Amino acid sequence: MQIRQTNQPLNFDKYPPFEKDVDPKQRAWIEIRGKALETNVRQLRSKLSKSCQFMAVVKADGYGHDAKLVSHYAIKGGASQLGVATLKEGIKLRSFGVKKPILILGNLYSKRDLIISFKNDLMPTISSIRECLICNNIGKHFGLKFSLHLKVDTGMSRLGFDEKKFVEQFEKIKSFENISIEGIYSHLSSADDINSLDPQSSAQLQRQKFQELLKQINVDRNRNIKIHLANSAGMLLNKDFHFHMVRVGLSMYGYSPLAKIDKNLYLQPALFLKVKVAFIRIIDQGVSVSYGGKFVSTRKTKLAVLSIGYADGVPRNLSGKIKVIHNKKLYPQVGSITMDQMMVDITGSNEIKIGSTMILLGSDGEKTISPLDWARESNTITWEIICSFKNRLPRVQVD
Ligand SMILES: *Cc1c(COP(=O)(O)O)cnc(C)c1O
Repeated sequence: MQIRQTNQPLNFDKYPPFEKDVDPKQRAWIEIRGKALETNVRQLRSKLSKSCQFMAVVKADGYGHDAKLVSHYAIKGGASQLGVATLKEGIKLRSFGVKKPILILGNLYSKRDLIISFKNDLMPTISSIRECLICNNIGKHFGLKFSLHLKVDTGMSRLGFDEKKFVEQFEKIKSFENISIEGIYSHLSSADDINSLDPQSSAQLQRQKFQELLKQINVDRNRNIKIHLANSAGMLLNKDFHFHMVRVGLSMYGYSPLAKIDKNLYLQPALFLKVKVAFIRIIDQGVSVSYGGKFVSTRKTKLAVLSIGYADGVPRNLSGKIKVIHNKKLYPQVGSITMDQMMVDITGSNEIKIGSTMILLGSDGEKTISPLDWARESNTITWEIICSFKNRLPRVQVD
């Protein structure tokens, strides 16, 4: 008999050798609940006055949820603008046919990038006269006005005009004929602090500084300029932070950035992380598990091997600190998390089989594991957990 050669055509219709034919739920995957996103946006919007717009922040591929999907459901829920971090992210949304205004939250400093931004109808964030001039020249070249947002730094020390020079520089910018200032904004550094409602908190001080600057440039007279300051935490603090628009990321995905949660707000996580059991083995007492032998069984132990690891975005420093859910029961992860796999102690369970599905993030009945649990265990924040998932995990839409 002949040996099967690579590239040799086969007639096995049942197993066509194409990547797209691999079941996305065969190994590990992320489920995205579009309806949850839509409902979250609706609910959050109900906290805003009618005239206040909702910008859905879909940077970093929609916080790892798939920017195309998130944009679709956020717009369905009433988002009227979108925010991205990079030029490429903005162009991608346009290529999906998104028509809403898109603001690039990062800084584009080269003429080339600003031209591309202009051609794709994306609004850049402008933090200096230099970039403002480049935009004005681009507008002039095309005989049009270049729409953009100005950013002023009120305490983040990241992007934005220096607050001390802003008033003077704004006077100059006003005379630029080929730009259209669509918005003026700033960004809060600590709105999720527990004391953010205290008058002396940094969020309140930033807000006051921002309002003072707006007063000095007499912005009220120009009603077309959108004023915005709040991220999720700022938006949830109170209406003083809302202005004409809020820029919401985290809470739209179903997580509260605040320790004290509004009881009338039912945010639903839009992301579930699931994995299949790839193998099951039984080890004796005193047997080491995974790299470094950091876990040694203290009894006869049944292990499930899950096809997910740190190359999928599960932080390795969560080794031995997390649990997984199967059929409303929790099972502890044991031994070091490896690049592509991890082991779970399922001793005593007869229902878990090869091919069974386990939940790493999400809920089943009363049992819930949230990215915040992982964040606490690995000394980071929810934001970092959800945007760390790699492309190796297919995003599968449910509902
Ligand atoms: C990421 C980002 C947001 C959204 O922040 P969340 O805390 O996720 O709501 C808002 N504004 C700017 C400038 C950002 O970079």
